[in-house]
Amino acid sequence: METGKIILADKPDGLEGAGFFATQLEKVVGLARKNSIWPLPFATSCCGIEFMATMGAHYDLARFGSERLSFSPRQADLLMVMGTIAKKMGPVLRQVYEQMAEPRWVLSVGACASSGGIFDTYSVLQGIDRIIPVDVYVPGCPPRPEQIIDGVIKIQRLVETESLRRRDSPEYKAMLNHYNIE
Ligand code: SF4
Repeated sequence: METGKIILADKPDGLEGAGFFATQLEKVVGLARKNSIWPLPFATSCCGIEFMATMGAHYDLARFGSERLSFSPRQADLLMVMGTIAKKMGPVLRQVYEQMAEPRWVLSVGACASSGGIFDTYSVLQGIDRIIPVDVYVPGCPPRPEQIIDGVIKIQRLVETESLRRRDSPEYKAMLNHYNIE
């Protein structure tokens, strides 16, 4: 890990010459969004402890522009679900997702959030994708901080390359309809 060195994000593709640089709006917006993701940590159990390590000085998620955690869904654009989600907790998770403004992304961290994990019981939701759409899954029980960072980088790639029109597309609306989300 390098210290004391500022690494600048790559500029988007474009035309450049003396005194000018031209690119597409979509690429500039993607670059800005990618490097300023505000995560909402929805942590219910042990995977949340790994997330605390991910935010600490050694792994330092701030290096990816995500140091500002949001505990208000309205000021967050990445929902990070970490831990076992009981069925009783499902409606709360869904409400948090619905309160987030578009564009929003979801990272499912660990086996419990992704599939119920070892808790194949009547009380545990067998994967959060039964109630909300998920963009990236991080495997592991618990995943190491490096894996969580890898998941965030994969989300960043999605954010950077997403079309500004995707959220208005019939496919996206059909996906939300599938989840009964308006
Ligand atoms: S995946 Fe493992 S570490 Fe993470 S919340 Fe479930 S039991 Fe805990």
